[in-house]
Amino acid sequence: MTVLVFAECDGAVLDPATARVVTAARALDGEVHVLVVGSAAGGEQAARIAGVAKVVVAAGGPGPLPAEAAAALIARVAGGSVVVAGASARAKAILPRLAAALGLAMVSEIVGVPAPDTFVRPIYAGSLLETVHCPVRKVVTVRAVSFAPAGGQAPAPVETVAAPPDPGLSHLVGAEVRRTTGRPDLAEARIVVAAGRGVASREGFARVEGLADRLKAGLGASRAAVDAGFAPNECQIGQSGRTIAPEVYLALGISGAIQHVAGIREARFIAAVNTDAEAPIFRIADLGLTGDLFAAIPALEAELKARGVV
Ligand SMILES: Cc1cc2nc3c(=O)[nH]c(=O)nc-3n(C[C@H](O)[C@H](O)[C@H](O)COP(=O)(O)OP(=O)(O)OC[C@H]3O[C@@H](n4cnc5c(N)ncnc54)[C@H](O)[C@@H]3O)c2cc1C
Repeated sequence: MTVLVFAECDGAVLDPATARVVTAARALDGEVHVLVVGSAAGGEQAARIAGVAKVVVAAGGPGPLPAEAAAALIARVAGGSVVVAGASARAKAILPRLAAALGLAMVSEIVGVPAPDTFVRPIYAGSLLETVHCPVRKVVTVRAVSFAPAGGQAPAPVETVAAPPDPGLSHLVGAEVRRTTGRPDLAEARIVVAAGRGVASREGFARVEGLADRLKAGLGASRAAVDAGFAPNECQIGQSGRTIAPEVYLALGISGAIQHVAGIREARFIAAVNTDAEAPIFRIADLGLTGDLFAAIPALEAELKARGVV
């Protein structure tokens, strides 16, 4: 059986999560192939991920729309294939189309593969983990941060095929890049500094932003901080935001609701500052400070400066 990994590309750069998705795919029983749509350079990068037996580049034609990528996948899914992809916003728009079109089972957002047909996935905002046995052909999305990246290898063969015709269901009118901060992406950042409703204003959020920049950290926020307009949407961490796995997560003025904690379970070390000693975030924090974040930030900055860290 083939395990077909659908890999995403940002122009000529393969999504770094692909190496983690391949680790998950290798735990299934089958030969791992990778499909890259529209990027020969991305195909070459995929071929060097350990455990990849073959790469298929669907060249020329399809743009970035989900219906087009789904058509390319449908064309590649032969008899025995299981399809695996990272649980990104884009893959979440593509893979269910594929599952519906081909009548395949769908197992979403897995965090573990204890046996080739058995998957662990979080439910109820991550407060429970369920184990699912799915022995039939299926489509699987993977929470990439839960898997270590596969190493490197001598390049596997790359086959280039023509992309199938555009199904013409929708047309891309324009795209605008809005990530202009230069900060590390939340999914890749070693340190993430995040703010909650406790920052109380945009100006308060800017103080947290300053600390994040000094630490060269990713910048996160709770949904309450986003909904209040203190923080931009792309900063949201949690059940309906990003899932992260930094080495250090610093939560400032965040209560620790389960929907927020769902996004930070894979963080290695959690530090929290909160005025409320009973805040739930302290139950999962490795280090907690009961106090005002606006006093903690300058104190932390002074300490980091004294130690030559910033
Ligand atoms: C379906 C659904 C999906 C959701 N998805 C998400 C999600 O993806 N991400 C998410 O974050 N939430 C999500 N939520 C919302 C979640 O339930 C909480 O409402 C939210 O996480 C609370 O954000 P918060 O901790 O910033 O705010 P609050 O709960 O209001 O907490 C603010 C904290 O700041 C502290 N504080 C106040 N002032 C200071 C100060 N000066 N210094 C230090 N501490 C201070 C307070 O003691 C308090 O603990 C979701 C909810 C639902 C129903």
